[in-house]
Amino acid sequence: MPVTAAAADLREPNAHGADADVLRRQDPEIADVLAGEGRRQADSLQLIAAENFVSPAVLAALGSPLANKYAEGYPGARYHGGCEYADAAERIAVQRATALFGAEHANVQAHSGSSAVLAAYAALLRPGDTVLAMGLAHGGHLTHGSPANFSGRWFDFVPYGVDAESGLIDHEQVRVLAHEHRPKAIVCGSISYPRHIDYAAFREIADEVGACLIADAAHPMGLVAGGSAPSPVPYADVVCATTHKVLRGPRGGMLLCGGELAERIDRAVSPFTQGGAQMHTIAAKAVALGEAASPGFAAYTRQVVANARALAAALARAGLLITTGGTDTHLITADPAPLGVDGRTARARLAAAGIVLDTCALPYGDGRGIRLGTAAVTTQGMGAADMERIAALFTAALRDDPDAAGKARAEVRELVGRYPPYRG
Ligand SMILES: *Cc1c(COP(=O)(O)O)cnc(C)c1O
Repeated sequence: MPVTAAAADLREPNAHGADADVLRRQDPEIADVLAGEGRRQADSLQLIAAENFVSPAVLAALGSPLANKYAEGYPGARYHGGCEYADAAERIAVQRATALFGAEHANVQAHSGSSAVLAAYAALLRPGDTVLAMGLAHGGHLTHGSPANFSGRWFDFVPYGVDAESGLIDHEQVRVLAHEHRPKAIVCGSISYPRHIDYAAFREIADEVGACLIADAAHPMGLVAGGSAPSPVPYADVVCATTHKVLRGPRGGMLLCGGELAERIDRAVSPFTQGGAQMHTIAAKAVALGEAASPGFAAYTRQVVANARALAAALARAGLLITTGGTDTHLITADPAPLGVDGRTARARLAAAGIVLDTCALPYGDGRGIRLGTAAVTTQGMGAADMERIAALFTAALRDDPDAAGKARAEVRELVGRYPPYRG
């Protein structure tokens, strides 16, 4: 059963009557690029854990006249005239976000997940404050203290990690570090942790040391929306998220918090770290949040997790070392070393077979692993039997054998050909 919400074709005229032919006539060079990307997405297997296929309705909102509108400020209090429809779009997005996640307040203006985290820090911290977050090699995001990122430059990050044996978050270590360093904030959330996060445990530790708790739930937020992962909202002072990834909206960020922090969060987003809101994206966020409130989306998230579990089990049978032994979410991380390849070689060989995924840091040892997810393939309509097939394609593609790779490429084409992301 295809889970994609609507079945319009990308080549059909969009919401305001323009169509792809206009672009082709005016700018064939870019039209070719876009068409090529559309073919690439449909013709290969999209296993990047952070990616998904948004609905044609989300694409229509992104390509709408709201892209022209300047709307600095918040609904009812803008620096610009003519904001009545911009205000309506943002009010609807905020209302849908608060209802969907049971939060008192939502800010939907953050341009990205990183911007959301920046705003959370701006609202709660001062430069030089100590922050406890997952170390980057263990699955922390760049905004969790990377020296290459503002976070590592402006704050004093103390990293916690996962247990060497189990791969699970070591809550005892988090507690010890919290008592030792007395951080102003604790961040929970990861780019690669495949298990549910125990937000109650983090809340307890934060309370013991008087720290605020920031949940960076960019990856699991879509699962939370569909009831397939625990919600950080009752536990965290601020929840940061993306509206893309499993949530299947446009690329963008979002923050949720209680009423008492609402004004500080809003000011931290704009004017502190951002200027004008991107109103076409906010309208598209509203559309995606509307979709995410439907029973069909809850079923989608259950299938995402079922597919990830099936794929993790099949990859384990194929010989890969699955971090934590499996997954609770859409996300799988694995070490392909038992098959005689490291993450980088694996990614290259898989790419040659049309299987697209990321490498990731492995917390222990100096090799790299691979990171993949089932959000996109599940939107396409794939199920458990397809996950078995994908694992078999991994086995074929990872062998150092050009013939096997060529055969795997053809089989990937056949598989994805049965599940076009956008239908005519
Ligand atoms: C994806 C992600 C982000 C960043 O989102 P961008 O939109 O790429 O800036 C931040 N934190 C976590 C945990 C993420 O998974």
